[in-house]
Amino acid sequence: MARLLVLGPSGRMGAAVLEAAAGVAALEISAVVDRESAAGVGAPAPHAMDVIVGSDLAHAMAHAEVYVDFTSAAGTAAAARAAAARKVAAVIGTTGLDDAAHAAIDALARVAPVVVAANFSLGVNLLLGLARTAARVLPAVDWDAEIAEIHHHHKRDAPSGTALAIARAIAAGREQEYDAVKRHARDGDVGPRPPGEIGVVALRGGGVVGEHTAFFFGPDERIELSHRATSRAIFARGAVRAAAWVAGRPPGRYDMLDVLGL
Ligand code: NAD
Repeated sequence: MARLLVLGPSGRMGAAVLEAAAGVAALEISAVVDRESAAGVGAPAPHAMDVIVGSDLAHAMAHAEVYVDFTSAAGTAAAARAAAARKVAAVIGTTGLDDAAHAAIDALARVAPVVVAANFSLGVNLLLGLARTAARVLPAVDWDAEIAEIHHHHKRDAPSGTALAIARAIAAGREQEYDAVKRHARDGDVGPRPPGEIGVVALRGGGVVGEHTAFFFGPDERIELSHRATSRAIFARGAVRAAAWVAGRPPGRYDMLDVLGL
């Protein structure tokens, strides 16, 4: 049984992870940590009533074997630094990461196993493989690839990490350098669409958990690969599965395809 630290219990995902972890025999929730100013610090953790929510990251890391992080770029960087000091395994789902967070994750992955995924759902990880296959089969010169994503109005980063992962899967299938062909939204006189471009648009509204469609517009036909998440539980279950899988692995960076054996 691995001792699990869950970050951000006052958040949508942190709460969902605690709920999902509560029923997993391979994991024991050893600590729950949030920002000092967050609601619920000092009180019993949701779905883990015998654990009190704390704010001392270093102390919690000292007693954990693996942690799950759905917080913010700053939260991810701070947690990865604290984990590196103790070689604690990590499952990181935070999106919209900055350079400091990426550097902290890279440093952690040199001393501990780290699963990083923009989306922990089984369906989305299958979609990544399907999008890459479609991109391999459909010539970029004839087939325009565009991605549309929709999320709830609280979401801060755009495009979503999942939309970027799909876009990169398409670029990989076409053997393109993603940064050379990406087009994140369009505004003004942008001219005709160049062949080979990969477009991404982000819609925000209401309580949408997460929807992604990869479009392939061909001559006289069109393919759409869509995924709709209706509950955060799918991400939480995947993250908990990753936590049980990653504890005890060799140091390095892993993704959800490794966890699922795809
Ligand atoms: P949220 O705002 O509801 O919750 C964020 C939580 O993190 C809160 O508890 C907050 O107190 C805590 N936090 C923020 N900054 C912190 C810091 N510096 N130190 C410690 N704790 C900190 O957000 P959410 O909807 O739960 O999403 C969190 C992240 O997870 C986002 O980046 C989101 O895009 C991502 N996400 C990823 C997946 C996936 O499958 N990879 C799925 C859903 C959401």
